[in-house]
Amino acid sequence: MSGKEINISVSLETAADERLLRQAAAKAVGCPEDVITHLQLLRRSIDARRGTPLLQLKLQIYTGDASPPPPPVFNYQNVTGKPPVIIVGAGPAGLFAALKLLEKGLKPVILERGKAVNERKYDIAKLTREQIVNPNSNWCFGEGGAGTYSDGKLYTRSNKRGNIGHILQQLVLHGANPDILVDANAHIGTDKLPQIIANIRKTIIAHGGEYYFDTQVNDMIVKNGEVLGVKTIGGTSFEGVAVILATGHSARDIYELFDRKGWVLEAKAFAMGVRAEHPQALINHIQYRGAKGAAASLLPAAAYSLVTQVEGRGVFSFCMCPGGIMVPAATAPGEVVVNGMSNSLRNSPYANAGIVVQVSPADYGGNSALDGLYFQHEIERRMFVAANNSQRAPAQRLVDFMNKKTTAAIQKTSYIHGVTAAPLHELLPDFINNSLWQAFRNFDKKMHGYLSNEAMLVAVESRTSSPMRIPRDSLTLEHIQLKHLYPCGEGAGYAGGITSSAIDGVNCAEKVVKRETSYGIKY
Ligand SMILES: Cc1cc2nc3c(=O)[nH]c(=O)nc-3n(C[C@H](O)[C@H](O)[C@H](O)COP(=O)(O)OP(=O)(O)OC[C@H]3O[C@@H](n4cnc5c(N)ncnc54)[C@H](O)[C@@H]3O)c2cc1C
Repeated sequence: MSGKEINISVSLETAADERLLRQAAAKAVGCPEDVITHLQLLRRSIDARRGTPLLQLKLQIYTGDASPPPPPVFNYQNVTGKPPVIIVGAGPAGLFAALKLLEKGLKPVILERGKAVNERKYDIAKLTREQIVNPNSNWCFGEGGAGTYSDGKLYTRSNKRGNIGHILQQLVLHGANPDILVDANAHIGTDKLPQIIANIRKTIIAHGGEYYFDTQVNDMIVKNGEVLGVKTIGGTSFEGVAVILATGHSARDIYELFDRKGWVLEAKAFAMGVRAEHPQALINHIQYRGAKGAAASLLPAAAYSLVTQVEGRGVFSFCMCPGGIMVPAATAPGEVVVNGMSNSLRNSPYANAGIVVQVSPADYGGNSALDGLYFQHEIERRMFVAANNSQRAPAQRLVDFMNKKTTAAIQKTSYIHGVTAAPLHELLPDFINNSLWQAFRNFDKKMHGYLSNEAMLVAVESRTSSPMRIPRDSLTLEHIQLKHLYPCGEGAGYAGGITSSAIDGVNCAEKVVKRETSYGIKY
């Protein structure tokens, strides 16, 4: 017997003790313990459905001379003097496109409107202090993109789109905890992400890639339907064999550029709603069925994932942050947008999640591609006004929202700017209210106690995904009209979340390389 894969359910104590785990594995395959030479953990998840929490483990058991395969090697080449590929945006899509280009021998040139991650944190601190949003350096813009100050959740449904394992391995290579390779609900945490992002930059520069901060792209150089490069607000031009446009879903100026120039852009469905916050202890109690004692103390802050349909419209939890806090995600002054994050220990006393409703162009009567953007902006602006023209986001107790009543005594939340009591049921569009009212009732049936007096809603959760798509050819991944332009990641409307955007970056980079090598060029 060698390299046998098994799935077992064990107590938390057994999983934490190598000797006990080996005994359990040997029993599961019916072999003596000492025959097992290596035990490799492939996957780990918590099962709390039956009262006593168990860990479900997928293990690879090795006997004899067999041993686990070595981790993959990423052969980043020195790309000095190699043909440049312009990457606009240093979020997960742009950074992983750059790493793939290094592997393949093309030179990434990254243009980022914001600052390096270590400087970006000072702008975020200033935003927290003064509540004034810097449109180039904020919770969404700057090195690392929107996911830098986040929970860093890495799970994705995009398994078929690319090699998730390679994305995770490269995060580990750049400093992430190797647990992300096995945890079913892997996350990194906002305290760890900035250093990983900085390490990725060091790899790119050490191998001959180029990185430019404070460099906002505002136009493209197009000749005979082919994109040759980009222009920046500072008046500099950058040319390359391809442009990977990975500007994220908040780069409204890029969508407006497309609209102005008559380059093809499409409206698409997105989602909008509120962020719900509960005490973490309450969510633990609901999810772990009141687990007590030593086993309960070993459990991480509980997460949840909820989805329901209300009159044919999807309502779902989004970016749930156990032991996290709520953060402002506006990218311009005069708007209020909320999101969530947690640190690696997920140890705040709060649990928050976006609860969002599907929005389609029919809901806002869209005629032009940009109407979804205007709709999104109008609601964000309305929240800013309701917050007395500040970042103190409008908030309401969940039960008051259900009863259409303004909250008189607002309770404390984790939202870093503080909140303003406001009737969310009057501020949100009717179709969103109607969907949320029914959805919260449905959620309470799935998680008894969700509709709690202690739960707060804060608005507006509007940047869940892009309201538009920059359409591309499904085979070449080039823009359907502009050759050598690769719309990429969440802003292009082809990804959602850190890992899926990273995968999309890899896929776009591979297509650039494929096109270049099809010309007979070798790198
Ligand atoms: C607070 C918060 C928490 C989140 N938590 C999670 C999570 O836990 N897990 C998860 O999977 N997802 C999370 N997300 C979503 C995730 O961050 C995004 O899905 C992901 O970052 C998208 O990657 P991207 O590279 O496509 O775009 P982005 O990350 O948005 O990166 C785009 C980059 O382009 C730059 N840029 C924009 N316009 C220009 C321009 N004109 N010129 C030059 N540069 C430009 C921006 O500054 C930015 O750095 C969170 C988002 C936020 C805001």
